[in-house]
Amino acid sequence: MPELPEVETVRRGLEPAMVGSRIVAVEQRRPDLRFPFPTGFAARLTGQEITSLGRRAKYLLADLSSGEVLVMNLGMTGRFLVAEGGRATAPGDFHRDAGAEQTHDHVVLRLSNGAMVTYNDARRFGFMDLVPRAEIETCRHFAGMGVEPLGNELSGETIARLFQGKRTPLKAALLDQRLIAGLGNIYVSEALFRARLHPEAPAGSLATPKAKPRAKAHVLAQVIREVLNEAVEAGGSTLRDFAQADGSLGYFQHRFRVYDREHEPCTAPGCRGTIRRLVQSGRSTFYCAACQR
Ligand SMILES: [Zn+2]
Repeated sequence: MPELPEVETVRRGLEPAMVGSRIVAVEQRRPDLRFPFPTGFAARLTGQEITSLGRRAKYLLADLSSGEVLVMNLGMTGRFLVAEGGRATAPGDFHRDAGAEQTHDHVVLRLSNGAMVTYNDARRFGFMDLVPRAEIETCRHFAGMGVEPLGNELSGETIARLFQGKRTPLKAALLDQRLIAGLGNIYVSEALFRARLHPEAPAGSLATPKAKPRAKAHVLAQVIREVLNEAVEAGGSTLRDFAQADGSLGYFQHRFRVYDREHEPCTAPGCRGTIRRLVQSGRSTFYCAACQR
């Protein structure tokens, strides 16, 4: 499943092809993906200029000159293919697996700059929707969604405000999409490791009783952005090297500092601990009991 950094990489890959272009034709090849396409989907897109391409958590948001926003979610296996000037790329295609057969090409956008953007989704857990710009914050996709982890909104103060008084384990609080939106299992393990915080520590321990941030809250906010940004950078290099198509670069080849390293020595400088795995809410957490306290 694409994590937030992968979605951001897809956004960066699509942006130059899409933004500033007009959609001249839309091929919608089925009535639904995970959900039905909105009524008049192709007609509402055709003729519109794409004025910007943003992201919120794991959703892509293409602003249209009509005032509507094309909301796109990649689900489990969704991906975009961009063909322009005889060259084809698949931005953010970290996995580079098989299964991108054309039978799974569900939407094709032909743009005024000559580019062709194809949405391919083998398992069809992704979806597309059209929402008026003015209603984006309150629409069903984003109402109640937590703060964006990549960006200035996430600070030590924000973490203190969100976590104050919570006895929930830190790991669970960080995965709670109503608090912070779009953080996945891998990146939460990495961030807690870098911040030297135990995944089972109560979330409220990062805040004072008056909801002021303790030092650890500032550190955590910083390392969350750090791990996400590094992954986006890694995705960017995958994108640049796509032409090699040798499968040597990929999302899962990217070694994490703690994730999936059970029984290995801790990688923190000077630490002699061993990485352990514990299961929280049915999901693996990797941590070092020696330096994460
Ligand atoms: Zn350690």
